[in-house]
Amino acid sequence: MTPKAVTVGSVILLGAPGAGKGTQAKVIAQQYGIPHISTGDILRDNVARGTDLGKKAKAIMEKGELVPDTLVLDMVEDRVDCPDCDRGFVLDGFPRTAAQAEWLDRFLTTRTFAGRHLPPIVMNFQVGYNQLLQRLTGRRSCPTCGRIYNVYFQPPRREGVCDFDGAPLIQRKDDSEEVISERLKNYERQTLPLADYYRRQGRLYEVNGELPREQVTAEVLSLLERLRGEQ
Ligand code: AMP
Repeated sequence: MTPKAVTVGSVILLGAPGAGKGTQAKVIAQQYGIPHISTGDILRDNVARGTDLGKKAKAIMEKGELVPDTLVLDMVEDRVDCPDCDRGFVLDGFPRTAAQAEWLDRFLTTRTFAGRHLPPIVMNFQVGYNQLLQRLTGRRSCPTCGRIYNVYFQPPRREGVCDFDGAPLIQRKDDSEEVISERLKNYERQTLPLADYYRRQGRLYEVNGELPREQVTAEVLSLLERLRGEQ
């Protein structure tokens, strides 16, 4: 598929861990040829490489808590300043706190995309608690190509192995039941209020994240198509 070379601006995907942000972010990124910026992925990469940031973040992430805003903001600022973000980017897992959302608002007042100021497009993926638990405990991913499976709903053809490249699938350390409950608590306390923050700005689009994946994708892409046309 050839990406559509249009100016998208920033797309913010809100929702609990396991709501499908990563899956849909990949589709949007591919459709428009813009980067998928997952703060969780960048942090995990830093942990794997043993950078200073990774050393500071590791224990916090393993407990399912949020990494301090100052560390995350520096990291995001570096990433969104890269030239590949010129037409836009999809944020997955950011913002997660009021301070992060306020920083992003300030940043977007100074930032232009292809010479234009564009407000963010914010989608909120809604998924019920039990569904989230099953998605997170059953989640497995391919460390080579990033494809995501679920042992309950979307198992690979051969158990434990990626359909696409045959790599052994892995489970994220923080997808254990104990850490999941901590992550969901932190989501409710710190991130859920952001839906209201963007609703008050008239920017929030609700998406039923419990629908089958293809249906969610169709809704997300048609929403973007409509909004991008209006900007
Ligand atoms: P995720 O892959 O989005 O579920 O993120 C995994 C973990 O990375 C989270 O549980 C947090 O510890 C950390 N993290 C990711 N994004 C952020 C953020 N925007 N602010 C603070 N911590 C974050």
